[in-house]
Amino acid sequence: MKANGYGLGANEAVECLREVGCRDFFVSTWWEAAQLHPERGLDLAVLHGVGPADIEAARQVAARPVLNSPDQILRWREFAPLQPCDVMIDTGMNRLGLRPEEANLLEGLSIHTLHSHLACADEDHPLNDIQLRRFREIAALVTARRYSLANSAGILLGRQYAFDLVRPGLALYGGVPRPEARGHIQQVARLEAQVVQRRRVPAGEYCGYNATFRAEQDTEAAVINIGYADGYWRGFSSKGVAKANGANLPVLGRVSMDLVTLGCDDLPELAAGDWVTLDFELESAARTSGESQYELLTGLGSRFERVWH
Ligand SMILES: *Cc1c(COP(=O)(O)O)cnc(C)c1O
Repeated sequence: MKANGYGLGANEAVECLREVGCRDFFVSTWWEAAQLHPERGLDLAVLHGVGPADIEAARQVAARPVLNSPDQILRWREFAPLQPCDVMIDTGMNRLGLRPEEANLLEGLSIHTLHSHLACADEDHPLNDIQLRRFREIAALVTARRYSLANSAGILLGRQYAFDLVRPGLALYGGVPRPEARGHIQQVARLEAQVVQRRRVPAGEYCGYNATFRAEQDTEAAVINIGYADGYWRGFSSKGVAKANGANLPVLGRVSMDLVTLGCDDLPELAAGDWVTLDFELESAARTSGESQYELLTGLGSRFERVWH
């Protein structure tokens, strides 16, 4: 649920996912945890753990920390030695987590879930096997109620990566983390924008900043109310496509902060106030724009009205 449910709305996402059987939820920070009101009976853990300034929040918010470092373990021992916590073990990513040789520091803690996180699950990389082996070794040494290794891409590496629970993010929101998932994951987020103005671009004239589109002939254009301030990134300039009434409307020239110009020769009826749907199937939109699927989702701005179906 971190980053506002990957940009879509964390509270709404929690409700949907609970209904379909998700039991455990994760956020990055205590502020994100508080936004979800876990006191209503949500099983929630905070991935960044307890930093020097987090003790008060940890007291007030009904979530478990995922302890990441010797410092955090000391802090937790002083604050709540008997209260259940999660622990992150670093098995080779060198991001967050205890090194396996520091596992002796965990003696006596009540560990709810022992985690590690895969660095390269979206590719066929030798580190995947190495991390799996290291996690098995550490799981044999450290007692916890449950063990967890796989993110979305890790789920697709096979059953041996699943342990007791998996932690998908991207795939829940329509991302395709590995090619094996193609055809099994549906688009979740759809982007719509509205036509602000329709105009004719005379042959030989240009569209948009830096005049990167030149009309070879008279061209019908619709200017829509979306731009890079909304997370429709400049990588879509002259490459993105929108659709309305079955017609493809190509992006003409640069994406601006708040506006995008579409070619609409094929749609004479498209008028100010009409809605268009931007192509935002994540795998292809990532390829088109040069952004990652993660950036496309988490970049979605605050001006959208987020409508849940
Ligand atoms: C973000 C995150 C995930 C989810 O990763 P996806 O690639 O989006 O499935 C899982 N575990 C941890 C520790 C994370 O930080």
